[in-house]
Amino acid sequence: MDAAVFSVWLSSIGQLNAAQRRSAQQALGEAATPTGKPALADPAEASVEPELLSQIGQARQAVQGCPHCGGDAIGRWGSANGKPRYRCAACGRTFNPLTATPLSGLHYPERWPDQAQALIAGETIAKAAKRCAVSYTTAFRWRHRFLAALNQDKPAQLSGIVEADETFVLESFKGKRAGMTRAPRQRGGKSSKRGLSKEQIPVMVARDRSGATIDAVLPSLDARSIGQALGAALRAPAELCCDGGRAIGAFARRAGLVLHVLPAPGLPRPEAPEWHINNVNAYHGRLKEWMRRFHGVATANLPSYLSWRRTIEAFGTSQNPSAWIRAAAGLGPYQQASV
Ligand SMILES: [Zn+2]
Repeated sequence: MDAAVFSVWLSSIGQLNAAQRRSAQQALGEAATPTGKPALADPAEASVEPELLSQIGQARQAVQGCPHCGGDAIGRWGSANGKPRYRCAACGRTFNPLTATPLSGLHYPERWPDQAQALIAGETIAKAAKRCAVSYTTAFRWRHRFLAALNQDKPAQLSGIVEADETFVLESFKGKRAGMTRAPRQRGGKSSKRGLSKEQIPVMVARDRSGATIDAVLPSLDARSIGQALGAALRAPAELCCDGGRAIGAFARRAGLVLHVLPAPGLPRPEAPEWHINNVNAYHGRLKEWMRRFHGVATANLPSYLSWRRTIEAFGTSQNPSAWIRAAAGLGPYQQASV
């Protein structure tokens, strides 16, 4: 190979995904091995890193004990299918690190790091399918299996100054063929009614100054729905900043929270610059900008997309495929999942 071409080829190695890297290593191994035998094990036998699986197994046992009975007397019980096995002394049943998690029984674990990378990058199903070399329907199923545990992974408590504000996401019947109440819009289309209507789904976001964030799709924009979404995590002495909407005001009064109503959206009073809703409004902006690529999501799946975005935000700069696989197994950034 020409030296200049080789240098270009070499520099593109950094763009390989995990599966491509393995194929390349295998091809190089075959080329280098005179007997023609691959230098590496069959890629189908490769799996999620064994250390990662052990970590997940131990962390889950520390959180919930035996996945069958909650017992704490657990011992190692060999391994099977490349995963460590454990046995519970109380109920006598065996399990592996992924038993009773949404990842249990999911095929091609060697491609999970690619799936995790697709979530980090916020890829559409089509792109994720290509990256992971799986079909569109498999990529769709993986996405929702990977996000399922994150729907429980929210901060138990918001503290200090908490900003809360609602935003609206256009209702979508994407993928739903029966039971539609009206003719489908073109995907990602505009609401046929102006302003707030039944077609706008209220989403509440509350964020404290440490960045801990709770979001929820509200069945309706009233104090009761807000209480169900935020009540458990938002208690005095936390103080609430909001735009003065009636529903959130009623919720704050019932919860006994000190309420700071901002005179204009996001604008702090000069004498109290720390009371504002700029962070939560910026979060809304990032959420909506990020969601545009999906061209409208089915309303039933909206909580999963909120969880996806919340997890990207919670990991911040520390996200990597292993962290996302741990999160998908119920060990998310807020460590609140109980799957
Ligand atoms: Zn047990």
